[in-house]
Formats: sequence, structure tokens, C-alpha cells
Amino acid sequence: MSGDVVALDQVAKRYAGDVIALDQVSLRIGYGELVAIVGPSGSGKSTMLNVIGTLDEPTSGTVVIDGHDVARLSDRQLSALRATRIGFVFQQFHLAPGVPVVDNVADGLLYAGVPRRERRRRAEAALDRVGLGHRLGHRPHELSGGERQRVAVARAVVGEPAVLLADEPTGNLDTGSGTAVLDLLHELHRAGTTVVVITHDREIAAALPRQVRMRDGRIRADSRLAPSGVS
Ligand code: ADP
Repeated sequence: MSGDVVALDQVAKRYAGDVIALDQVSLRIGYGELVAIVGPSGSGKSTMLNVIGTLDEPTSGTVVIDGHDVARLSDRQLSALRATRIGFVFQQFHLAPGVPVVDNVADGLLYAGVPRRERRRRAEAALDRVGLGHRLGHRPHELSGGERQRVAVARAVVGEPAVLLADEPTGNLDTGSGTAVLDLLHELHRAGTTVVVITHDREIAAALPRQVRMRDGRIRADSRLAPSGVS
């Protein structure tokens, strides 16, 4: 197994009507990296995230996540990989309304077969980690947008995934709350989590250690590679 948590090889995704969302994309992301995938609207970022997150199958090419060639996995194995090895954070938070935040986070461990009490203990620890240990019983609507997104981050990392995928994680937040969420992603990275941030915002991307620039379904630049495009 390689030292890469994500390995895309010549990945293409085509839609009906000759739309090419991804055009022969090859990308490697090592364990422990913090990477921005940045590009304008329509450049293929969400498609890339869906392919990496095994939510969508490519038309051609190879996708290896945490050492697993996803095309070789059964539906059940794929669901297990997604539930236990990949954490997701979305622009819209996607928390269960009316459910206390500690249970929202604990539910991130349902598929891992962790007993209920242990789920709760780990959820409390994860909420502590994102600075919300004093808000365990609050419902999402009782929290600010920034706090909700920190709950979503806690839920995404409670199972210690191999990779955390964050899709425009600050897109719905004011500048201050957005900065707090980005600081949190940096902190998780320093503690060893692999984090991939999808963003159209060049400023956010520039603050991350590696930027992969997308345009028209292709990688146009990757700051990890030499300027010639050869590593
Ligand atoms: P981004 O996330 O950078 O805005 P997307 O990955 O959403 O880009 O889209 C890339 C291209 O693929 C766009 O031209 C978009 O219109 C097209 N596309 C995305 N999803 C679909 C779909 N389900 N059906 C058809 N075309 C799609």
C-alpha cells in the first residue's frame, strides 16, 4: 500500500450531453496533508469531491482511497469505507434538526458498531475538541452558524477517519465564524488528520499548505509539484 490516502489515476467523469466534469485527472494526497482544491464554479471541484468520497463513480480511471480500489468493493464494503474512513463536512451543515448536538455527533459512530455509551463518550470528547463541550444538550437551531459547523466537524472526525472532506465549509458563515472553522481544520491537521477543503475562494486556498487548482475539469496547477508540472 502506498503512503497516499487518495490516489486518482486518469479519472474522467462524463455526463449526458457531452459534459466533461473531470478530464483525465490524476492526483495523490498523502496521509496527514491539508490540501485546498480550488477553482471557479463549474470547474469540477464537487465532482472530484464526490468521486474521492465514493459518492459518485467515475466514468473511467482508478480511484484508490485509504488503500482500497473502490471499483473492486461491493456496495456493502463501499458503505463501510465511507462510514468509517471518510468524514464529510458540507456548506449546509446537515445536522439532524431537533436532535441534541451530542447525539448528532454520536450518530457519526452508528455504522462503526460502537456501543451507545462509548458513542456518547467519544461524542463529548469530539465536541470538547471543537470548543463546544458546554453545548452538549443544545439543539442545532439554538446555535450560531459557526457553532453548527463546528458540530458538523466534530461529527465528521469522531470516528477518526483517514480523510476529512470539507465542501465549501465556510460558504454559509460570516468572516469571523469562517476563520474559526478554518482554524479548527488547521488544528485537526496539526494533530494528524488528513483534510481536503473544496473552495472557490482563492484567499482561503492560499492559507493552506497545498493548493490544487481546477479549471474545466482538469488540474491546472498543483503547488506540491514543480512548476513544470513534474514532481
Ligand atoms: P464545481 O463544483 O467546481 O462548481 P462541478 O463538479 O459541480 O463543479 O461541475 C463540473 C461540470 O459538470 C459543470 O459543467 C456542471 O454543470 C457539470 N455537472 C455536474 N453535475 C452534473 C450532473 N449531475 N449532470 C450533468 N452535468 C453535471
